[in-house]
Amino acid sequence: MSDLFSVADVSAARGPLRKMDIAPGDAETPAQYTLRAGEQRIGLNAHLGASLRLVHTGAIHCVHCGRTTRKSFAQGYCYPCFKSLAQCDTCIVKPETCHYHAGTCREPTWGEQHCFQPHVVYLANSSGLKVGITRKTQLPTRWLDQGAIQALPILEVDNRLQSGLVETLFKQVVGDRTNWRAMLKGDVAPLDLLAERDRLLAALDQELAALRQRVGDQAIGTLAAAPVALHYPVLEFPSKVVSHNFDKSPEVSGRLMGLKGQYLIFDTGVINLRKFGGYEVEVAIE
Ligand SMILES: [Zn+2]
Repeated sequence: MSDLFSVADVSAARGPLRKMDIAPGDAETPAQYTLRAGEQRIGLNAHLGASLRLVHTGAIHCVHCGRTTRKSFAQGYCYPCFKSLAQCDTCIVKPETCHYHAGTCREPTWGEQHCFQPHVVYLANSSGLKVGITRKTQLPTRWLDQGAIQALPILEVDNRLQSGLVETLFKQVVGDRTNWRAMLKGDVAPLDLLAERDRLLAALDQELAALRQRVGDQAIGTLAAAPVALHYPVLEFPSKVVSHNFDKSPEVSGRLMGLKGQYLIFDTGVINLRKFGGYEVEVAIE
């Protein structure tokens, strides 16, 4: 009987890449990484320090419909999916531009299931302080995908549009991006996220009050959560960050030195596997 949720003890696989599954660890255990190539899964933590080779076969399969596509759009979609799926619309990246109320959502049912759900506004430390939003059920996955070393949920809202409106306010005073090179160098200084939260909430007090008047007093709730610390399996961080790219060179190999965010860190450079969703690869570990 096959069990998709168990990590098979294999050292070779072939299939289209998916973003890695990352399970949170704790103070003693780093996050657990699982490489996914088609239906095959390889637990990577056990192979830290080993030689790992990924070879792109040249085929790209849309992560949604599975069709082959010459080019990948939005990290793994074929062009028809990219143009028709709600999850590929620009309002996903800019939630404050949600247009469901105008009757123009590409897939209203998908929108109801994914966007009209509780969302969380959080602070994270990936390469310094940043603000972010995500569906509540996506935590802590979202933080692990970003390579954050600390995170703190600060506000909970009723839907994605509201999370975008709140995030827009925060972006006046704090960034929302990760500097991936800094994140991968591993020398990110810890922050006092509770103090940062209090500072930012005080700075945006009037703007948040005005937004609450607009969307309803109950819609934006303050969370009293504790900060979360996230740990990654890394033997050695790179001093200089060089990136591999399957579009430029189909073979990526080296000694696996670490895993952080959706990156594999080799002694030869790093690769963001998220960027290559749908790329069919042959994986071999020695
Ligand atoms: Zn497709």
